[in-house]
Amino acid sequence: MGAHISVPMYQRSLPQRYRLVGLKCQKCGKINFPPKGTCKYCRASTEFIEVPLSGKGYVYTYTIIAGGGAPPEFTDQALIQGSYPVAIIQLEEGPRIMAQLVEVEREEIKIGLPVEAVFRRIYEEEGVIRYGYKFRPVVPPCKP
Ligand SMILES: [Zn+2]
Repeated sequence: MGAHISVPMYQRSLPQRYRLVGLKCQKCGKINFPPKGTCKYCRASTEFIEVPLSGKGYVYTYTIIAGGGAPPEFTDQALIQGSYPVAIIQLEEGPRIMAQLVEVEREEIKIGLPVEAVFRRIYEEEGVIRYGYKFRPVVPPCKP
């Protein structure tokens, strides 16, 4: 009998960094992301429970980053494309996070655009490939 890995098992074994997980403050109930030591909303609590985030949200604001002066995780991309869009995403659970937008034409990007998280290779450093989340537009369902 050969080795068999079922898909659900594989998904369960995915490291946490391949999922979006927020920390829900036990005192004020707000969700902190990225996770911090102290709740950034009430600044009084260090008691959290982990909550999975859907990865769905919309473009709160965005900017086009030109090559040079980019944060290191974006350098590869800047070298390839010259410039690329980065947005602040308003997640449906509340937190806002900064991420690169992918699979989108420059003209399609607008404030309020519905997006979802995807996990992509971000950059390679000393032979180690780093993955992280990026956001792409939610494709509307095909009309019947
Ligand atoms: Zn709090």
